[in-house]
Amino acid sequence: MNDVPGKLVVISGPSGVGKTTLLRRLLADLPTLIPSVSATTRPPRAGERDGVDYHFLAQDEFDRRRAAGEFLECCQVYGRQHWYGTLVAEVEPRLAAGKWVVLEIDVEGTLSVLRLYPQAITIFVEPSRPEQLFERLKGRGTESPEAMARRLEVAHRELHEAHRYRHRVVNENVDEALAEVKRIFAAEGFDDDPVPAASHTP
Ligand code: 5GP
Repeated sequence: MNDVPGKLVVISGPSGVGKTTLLRRLLADLPTLIPSVSATTRPPRAGERDGVDYHFLAQDEFDRRRAAGEFLECCQVYGRQHWYGTLVAEVEPRLAAGKWVVLEIDVEGTLSVLRLYPQAITIFVEPSRPEQLFERLKGRGTESPEAMARRLEVAHRELHEAHRYRHRVVNENVDEALAEVKRIFAAEGFDDDPVPAASHTP
């Protein structure tokens, strides 16, 4: 599974740390980087699009695809609530084609991915202060108080897992965090301009 030409990047971080914004900016700046669209049983939030933000699946469909072995990894994030999973079809064909594929998944999912792809480049995004998570989640206003409490509890647990990641990036300021992630990509061999040099000549 590991001798594929492409590279797998896994980005994790507690809920509210701002990793979705960071990833969106990264994808805009590095157009050859491919995001894996996860599947989830969570209902879409306002503005989220099926097939873009997630593949939104009913529980029975998720279960069917899980039983059919369509997931690289999947788990129930946030206690007994919703299921999330990475589809093999989102990752393997791209890696086989030599692409860089990025997953935004939780710590449990990362550990499963590392068992399959020990060379995966793992990046943990952390807050500069733990209170930052609460403030961001509250400001976002998308979660009920119970859901927020559950997310914060998981977030604090996840912060203790940061040492399992190859790289750690503090997201105090998104521009600086983005620059740091790009430095990591460069150090790991990401080619910003994959067009062969010869094709640049007129
Ligand atoms: P949200 O509901 O805020 O979109 O995402 C909740 C959490 O689920 C995030 O921490 C995110 O990293 C995680 N997550 C999203 N997709 C996947 C996935 O495919 N697998 C796993 N294990 N976690 C995921």
